[in-house]
Amino acid sequence: MSTESQYLYSQLPAIDRLLRDPAIEPRVEQHGQTLISDLLRQLQLQARETIKQHQRLPDWCADWPQALGAALAQRQRTALAPVFNLSGTVLHTNLGRALLAQPAIEAVTRSMGEPVTLEYDLDGAGRGHRDRAIADLLCQLTGAEDACIVNNNAAAVLLMLAAIAPGKQVVVSRGELVEIGGAFRIPDVMRQAGCQLVEVGTTNRTHLKDYRNAINDQTGLLMKVHTSNYSIQGFTAAVDEAELAQLGAEHGLPTATDLGSGSLIDMAQYGLPAEPMPQRLLAAGVDLVTFSGDKLLGGPQAGIIVGKKALIARLQQHPLKRALRVGKLTLAALEATLRLYQQPELLAQQLPTLRLLTRPQQAMQQAAEHLLQVLTPQFAGHFQLRAEPCWSQIGSGSLPVDRLPSYALTFTPQDGRGATLEALAERWRRLPQPVIGRINDGRLWLDLRCLEQEEALIEVLSA
Ligand SMILES: *Cc1c(COP(=O)(O)O)cnc(C)c1O
Repeated sequence: MSTESQYLYSQLPAIDRLLRDPAIEPRVEQHGQTLISDLLRQLQLQARETIKQHQRLPDWCADWPQALGAALAQRQRTALAPVFNLSGTVLHTNLGRALLAQPAIEAVTRSMGEPVTLEYDLDGAGRGHRDRAIADLLCQLTGAEDACIVNNNAAAVLLMLAAIAPGKQVVVSRGELVEIGGAFRIPDVMRQAGCQLVEVGTTNRTHLKDYRNAINDQTGLLMKVHTSNYSIQGFTAAVDEAELAQLGAEHGLPTATDLGSGSLIDMAQYGLPAEPMPQRLLAAGVDLVTFSGDKLLGGPQAGIIVGKKALIARLQQHPLKRALRVGKLTLAALEATLRLYQQPELLAQQLPTLRLLTRPQQAMQQAAEHLLQVLTPQFAGHFQLRAEPCWSQIGSGSLPVDRLPSYALTFTPQDGRGATLEALAERWRRLPQPVIGRINDGRLWLDLRCLEQEEALIEVLSA
């Protein structure tokens, strides 16, 4: 080792001395000695590495308290960092899907800090199970006889199959054997539930007679799956739920639909692409319908199964229900979300998902023009900014072909290089509150549909 390096190593302060530094002591008091010593040791190792490789002290060694502050901030950075979702996808699975309504947030907060009547009966009527109160609410809203709540819609489908058709054949159209993101594939779920999948029809056309011909004494369930994330167009035919329910009734077989998104309100009434509604399927005679809590419903992650009382009772009693049940936080959020549906006139204001989906293009255009003015000087010489019309997606398995007109602020690199664009996107992902946009057609697009606080974005991009 050179004497030069030896000298540099000797310049590194001892941990004990750092811990007594007046600028570091308050950190120790606030966070405890274990964490702070650990971070200081790490910094020291980093410094030693720099000396070894470059025969000099890293610049930050001039200010250990500040380096410690930065390391502490880094260590405490949450794994669930809040971001600006300007991706153009409203229900973005990787960004946590639906944002909860204020009453749901308050209900969750309350249930976190205080005991609640999760399975405790105040009126002595014998509540039975934790889903009871919310199942009643779901029955009011959908006309179902009963309901069951589990961790997500994938769990809802699994539980339904395992409880209703164990060891039996389940008949599904070939055109509906979907894969939803995150490895949810209907054939795999069937196998896990102990059911035998019987595919009928073809990819593009399936008729009632295909289901009828598949029925035998091993059949346990006739099932439909909403092809939420793709669409088959052209020469197509599918059997509607009412016909299938009729066929099931004739043969004494239950029918079920996995709806995926499922909306409790008529989306068309808000000028949005129509989505099937659980209440309509139940009215058409389907015995069980499953859907997600955090897609169009706009609530917490949950799987909801509504339908016939006797069938729901089998779900509630199945051992898998115990493994898939939800906690009080989910129930609190779901209850508060569902209550909003009892005041449909207020829904478009109170439910963030619906509020964002129904924002008029003009609102995003105004935002884009305002941001254009404020931000253009900062990017001058590097990026050309423009306010441009674009299309948002609903996301989370609503039809990808159904787009909503929106407006974006776009960034085109003046050197015309894709690498510059990638670098900008990368820089924004590293901001204290990361900004998530979309690169397309040689520019970075910030779709402003989900931006309700312009000032917050300006502040983050100007820092
Ligand atoms: C989204 C979806 C699922 C999975 O629902 P999760 O709540 O994400 O588990 C299952 N089936 C269909 C048709 C879907 O659209």
